[in-house]
Amino acid sequence: MDLKDLYRDVILDHNRQPRNFGALTDPDTHAEGHNPLCGDRLTVWLRFDGDRIADIRFEGKGCAISTASASLMTEAVKGKDKAAIRELYDRIHAVLTQPDAAPPDASLGKLAALAGVREFPARVKCATLCWHTLNAALERSADAVSTE
Ligand code: ZN
Repeated sequence: MDLKDLYRDVILDHNRQPRNFGALTDPDTHAEGHNPLCGDRLTVWLRFDGDRIADIRFEGKGCAISTASASLMTEAVKGKDKAAIRELYDRIHAVLTQPDAAPPDASLGKLAALAGVREFPARVKCATLCWHTLNAALERSADAVSTE
């Protein structure tokens, strides 16, 4: 399956049936994100188990790419610790923003479909909004821990 088919199928699927959609009861932290270029809005809720994300949910109103990207992200980061999430984010960011980057390798799983966004530079911020929102939630939780 080539990247364009993968992109279309995965984005359509996750936009139509977003995974982990809806507010999380009893979250440890949350953050809101807004992409003014497109009008996408997201809220991401997190619950931790030590340093790992035990549960993550999101809710929002936005374009297909922002919704699908958030859905894919929640599946990808659940159970991971902060260091692993940061590494994953760096790889996704490179895939999205470096037009000449090598094709994404299989270890990215379905997230590799996001590489299709490279064809539409104006939509890159739609795809990264959920990651920025997740980072904001993680930073907020770090602040909360360090000031206690
Ligand atoms: Zn958008």
